[in-house]
Amino acid sequence: MTEHNDGVVTLPGGHALPQGSLIHGAWVPNTGPLRDVFDPATGELLATVREAAPDQVDAAVASAREAQAAWAARSVHEREALLVEAARVIVEHADLLAVVETLDTGKPLSQSKTDVSIADQYFRYYAHASRHFFGETIPSASNLQVRTEREPHGVVAHITPWNAPLSQWSRGVAPSLAVGNTVVVKPSELAPLSTLLVADLLKGVLPAGTMNVIPGDGALTGAALASNPGIDHLTFTGSVATGIRVSQAAAANVVATNLELGGKSAAIVFPDADLERAAASAANALVRNTGQSCSALTRFIVHSSVADEFERLLVEATASMGMGPGIDDHKLGPLVSQQQRDRVVEMVRQAAAAGATIATGGDLVPTTPDLSKGWFVTPTVLTNVSPEMQIASTEVFGPVQTVLHFDDEAEAVRIANGTDYGLTAAVFTRDIGIASRLSRSLRAGQVQINGFIGAGMEIPFGGVKHSGVGREKGFEALHGYTQVKTVVTHLEAAA
Ligand code: NAD
Repeated sequence: MTEHNDGVVTLPGGHALPQGSLIHGAWVPNTGPLRDVFDPATGELLATVREAAPDQVDAAVASAREAQAAWAARSVHEREALLVEAARVIVEHADLLAVVETLDTGKPLSQSKTDVSIADQYFRYYAHASRHFFGETIPSASNLQVRTEREPHGVVAHITPWNAPLSQWSRGVAPSLAVGNTVVVKPSELAPLSTLLVADLLKGVLPAGTMNVIPGDGALTGAALASNPGIDHLTFTGSVATGIRVSQAAAANVVATNLELGGKSAAIVFPDADLERAAASAANALVRNTGQSCSALTRFIVHSSVADEFERLLVEATASMGMGPGIDDHKLGPLVSQQQRDRVVEMVRQAAAAGATIATGGDLVPTTPDLSKGWFVTPTVLTNVSPEMQIASTEVFGPVQTVLHFDDEAEAVRIANGTDYGLTAAVFTRDIGIASRLSRSLRAGQVQINGFIGAGMEIPFGGVKHSGVGREKGFEALHGYTQVKTVVTHLEAAA
């Protein structure tokens, strides 16, 4: 591997960062291997990043530990002011952050702009929400006064994925900091640049050591962080297989983990549903981050009596989607890596071989000269999918929608609940009885009725079954990033 760019990471747009990890407010040289970071739209080299070795991971954790007591001791007003200032700095550099996010992940530029604004909103929301988060007074025996306090865990490690680096970073880091934790963040090796940039922008705002960032891959840097005895809590967002591995590593130190993992989320469409709305939600699942979204509704279970019309509407919406480099802001961008592109292509081929119909798409890798070097996949709708097919139960993480059929409510619920995942689910019906029954019987962390929204920092989010453990967003995150201390005062009888 060439050693060009060593000493400095030149970000897209020309912004230069020192190579290394952000530790105690300064860039410290890394001693791990160099890793190339590519532009998914062209396959060209974007930057070369030297990875944090276990020594740098230890130093980052020690820095967070050193800073934590003073950070937690600040008043809620002081922390609020600093997080609001962080949000202001994010907004001030929104254009640069969005361009870097797009070039690094392939995400269409308008979606990166939305993700930057989500990061801003997370910081503002949790800056203010933490004022309204406190313990309880609990009625007990007459000679006892019982109350609880919400204490920060201490040092919280965050391991984040490549699909939405800024939004995932802010989702975990903002509430962690708001309640007095300090953090060590390891971004994905596939798309680390926006996290490094935002760390650099905020190093003059957040006190030294409150936020430390260590770039690197999973096997070297991630594993050293997850197994580090100096962390008090771990939030991991990524695949199920890695989630199991990191939680086992953390458990060896009795460190609790918050796991935000994959999904294969079901949407059930009843005959009385607004079919245009349901088809628009199915199409939108392909558009959001080119299908690389954990919460995406990727299994549409449609009543047989309306399936033809639903499929016609979905194919129509999908066929007109433009695709191209994210920086040109087409509806669909490339997938993050060649490996991911090849995986998606292979899964579609296998589904077709198993009997699914490719209703649109199918020419999976565009051969037009301008797109042939990037990692693009044509948006694809698979119909005649049966629950037994692998495509019906395995997360694809690409612009592929699957349509299954059902004839009665019990069958629909059985199909919907028939995977290992349980992140989100949706029901499309005008019947309040059906909607209410299914919101109870669907095994998912979130059920939406007659639509789907992926954003909203106030809306609790997280999975059941293999989709994860714990909740992010809303006040649920503040519970997750604190622990309860119970204080029992023994009152003396009045003389
Ligand atoms: P991944 O599991 O490959 O990697 C996630 C992170 O874990 C990366 O930073 C990686 O470097 C790190 N890692 C890998 N091996 C490690 C190890 N042994 N120890 C410690 N860290 C290690 O996942 P990905 O491919 O980056 O992300 C895609 C997956 O993430 C999908 O399954 C998607 O559904 C899921 N995801 C879930 C959510 C959610 O909120 N539930 C959000 C986004 C993505």
